[in-house]
Amino acid sequence: MTSSMWQFSKRAAALKSSAIREILKVTELPDVISFAGGLPSPNSFPIAKIKQAVDDIMDSDESFNALQYGPTEGYKPLREWVANLINQREKTHLTIDNVLIVTGSQQALDLIGKALIDEGTKVLVETPTYLGALQTFTQYEPEYVSIASDDQGLNPDQLSDEEAKSANFLYTIPNFQNPTGRRLSEERRKKLAEKAKKNNLLMIEDDPYGELDYQGHRLPSLISFAPDNTVYLGSFSKILAPGMRLGYVVGPVEFIRKLVQLKQAADLHTPSYTQHIAYQVIKDGYLGSHIPKIRELYKTRCQFMLAQLDKYMPKTVRWTKPEGGMFIWVELPEHINSTELLAKAVKSNVAFVPGETFFATNPKKNCLRLAFVTVPEERIEKGIKILADLIK
Ligand code: PMP
Repeated sequence: MTSSMWQFSKRAAALKSSAIREILKVTELPDVISFAGGLPSPNSFPIAKIKQAVDDIMDSDESFNALQYGPTEGYKPLREWVANLINQREKTHLTIDNVLIVTGSQQALDLIGKALIDEGTKVLVETPTYLGALQTFTQYEPEYVSIASDDQGLNPDQLSDEEAKSANFLYTIPNFQNPTGRRLSEERRKKLAEKAKKNNLLMIEDDPYGELDYQGHRLPSLISFAPDNTVYLGSFSKILAPGMRLGYVVGPVEFIRKLVQLKQAADLHTPSYTQHIAYQVIKDGYLGSHIPKIRELYKTRCQFMLAQLDKYMPKTVRWTKPEGGMFIWVELPEHINSTELLAKAVKSNVAFVPGETFFATNPKKNCLRLAFVTVPEERIEKGIKILADLIK
């Protein structure tokens, strides 16, 4: 077969493999100290508990259902679990009709892109933002409007009423954001929610890192301040295992119904098998003891990396000091281009993700993202020292 046999759609043809991805290919080699990947630590995977759950299901009458096709909306007990979780935590009044189980929250982003974006649709994003959201939304050709952000996250004062009115939705990650590790302050959450209500703005609240709060001190979500204006995305990737591909969308019934139609066309439903396993694992409150262990593990790594940055980086370099999550965002002096730095760093067996990929508009060239949870401490120290020497 040759490519002259077919013509890719305009949408597929427009997809480019990025130069950065090419450089990062080498980061899978064992000698490379990679701060690039956004993977959770495999030490956080509850392997024995999952094994037990599989055995329990397979030995029970549920085995047939776990291996059968299921409803597009998801496994009912799991949807109930999600509705209860959010109701208790955010004082909402959800029923299972407000919940759709998805194949990872990445699928939710894609379904939302399909549901809400036509060519030229205005989409508000914080700056920088999650690359995977930009990749999926961009397929549907939105016009992005970036809202300035600082150490406290997205700044609602920088979002004008006109912008809020003219956009179809705002996409935001209030907790320990990817890529910066920032958390939106409570005051800003309230302000943003008020602005959304006033301007009839829909907010897509993406929250895969909310539980990874090192102090276990969660701030109320946007959905608790503006339930009618918020579609909330949750994920089991960072609290159970990403290979299970399990996430959920919580939103107005009418919105969920539309996503169900789109999801049915995409993959019929999220695997019954993983939904049953996850529910078996979590139904008796297991996460209450499991999540604190992940928090502790990540907190220690984060503090260690921050200490190495303090020790080795020149005074001209700034970085975020996350209170949760998996990422630190580093700002280099203006004249340093982090993509060029990556090419040099990779030759010294160190990798990170250059910041420019995380901007929807006006990319900043002097930033980079460091992921710390999968790298052992001695390699964190070695890697940061190499990076600091290159920057100097
Ligand atoms: N949103 C954000 C902000 C993320 O960082 C990620 C994963 N890195 C996702 C969504 C997708 O997560 P998943 O599909 O595994 O639930």
